[in-house]
Amino acid sequence: MPSMIRTTTLPAGEAVPVLGQGTWKMGEDARRHADEVEALKLGLDLGMKLIDTAEMYASGGAEEVVADAIAGCRDEVFLVSKVLPSNASRTGVPAACEKSLRHLRTDRIDLYLLHWPGSVPLAETVEAFEALRKAGKIRHWGVSNFDTHEMEELVSLPDGGYVQTNQILYNLSQRGPEFDLAPWSRQRGIPLMAYSPVDQGVLARNASLEAIAARHYATAAQVALAWVMAQDGVIAIPKAGKQEHVRQNAAALDIKLTPEDFADLDRAFPPPTRKQGLQMI
Ligand code: NAP
Repeated sequence: MPSMIRTTTLPAGEAVPVLGQGTWKMGEDARRHADEVEALKLGLDLGMKLIDTAEMYASGGAEEVVADAIAGCRDEVFLVSKVLPSNASRTGVPAACEKSLRHLRTDRIDLYLLHWPGSVPLAETVEAFEALRKAGKIRHWGVSNFDTHEMEELVSLPDGGYVQTNQILYNLSQRGPEFDLAPWSRQRGIPLMAYSPVDQGVLARNASLEAIAARHYATAAQVALAWVMAQDGVIAIPKAGKQEHVRQNAAALDIKLTPEDFADLDRAFPPPTRKQGLQMI
C-alpha cells in the first residue's frame, strides 16, 4: 500500500506533498531515458506527486523525461520548474516559460521558480511572473537559493508577497538555514523546499545515520529524509533514478523519529549557533 503523503500548505492556501521527486542529472543520456521515466512513474504511483525540474537540467532534457512520466496523469501532478537568472527579464521569462511548457508537453506549470538570484532587477522578474500567472501559464511562482536578506527584499516589492516557496540546499550536513532563514520563512508561512536532502547520496553512507536507521529497520538515506520531512513547513525533493531508491524514499514517510533519534542527530550534525551564508550547489 502506498503511504499517505503528508502535506504542507502554500501561502496561496494550496496543499502540496512534503515529499516530491527531483530530476537533476536526468535527461542527460538517452540510454537511461526509459529507466528515468519508470522511476518517476513509480514515485507517482507511490504518492510522490510533486516533481521538481528546471530548464537548466540537461538543457530541457530533464523536462522531457518528466513529460513522458506524467503523460496521462498530468492533473494529478504538482509540477515545479525553474527559469535561469539569465532569462529572468520581462521578455526572457515568458519565452523561457513557453520553452519549458513545450518540453513538458503541458499547458501550465504549477510552481515556477527563479533558479537563483541574478542581475535582472527582482521587481522585473516578479512582474513577469505575475503576468504569466494572470495568463494561466503558471499557477504559482517562487524563488530558489535566496538567503534571508534576499527574501526580505523580495517581500518588500510590489506583488513580492505572492512568493510561494524558496527552494534551498538543506539537509543534515547543511543546517545553516535553521539559524534565521527557516524561522523567517515559517513565521510568514512560506514553505522551504529542501534540495539535495540526502546530500547527493553522501548521507546514505553515513555511519551515525546507519546506527540510528538500524533502530527503525531502515536505511541511512531514509533517516536523512525522515529528518528533513520532520521539519515544520519543509518539503523534500530527493532525486532517485533507481527504483529501489524510489521505494525507500516513499517508505521514509512512515519513519517516526524519536526524541532519542533527534538528540543523536543533533550530536552528529550540530545545528548552527550563528548566521551562516546560504550555500548552493
Ligand atoms: P539528492 O536528492 O540529495 O541525492 C540524489 C542522489 O542520491 C542520487 O545519486 C540518488 O541515486 C541517491 N539516492 C536517492 N535516494 C536514495 C536512497 N534512498 N538511498 C541511497 N541513495 C539514494 O540530491 P540532488 O539530486 O542534488 O537534489 C534533489 C533535487 O533537488 C534535484 O534532483 C533537483 O531537482 C533539485 N535541486 C535544486 C537545486 C537548485 O539550485 N534549486 C540544486 C540542486 C538540486 P540514484 O539516482 O542512483 O537512485
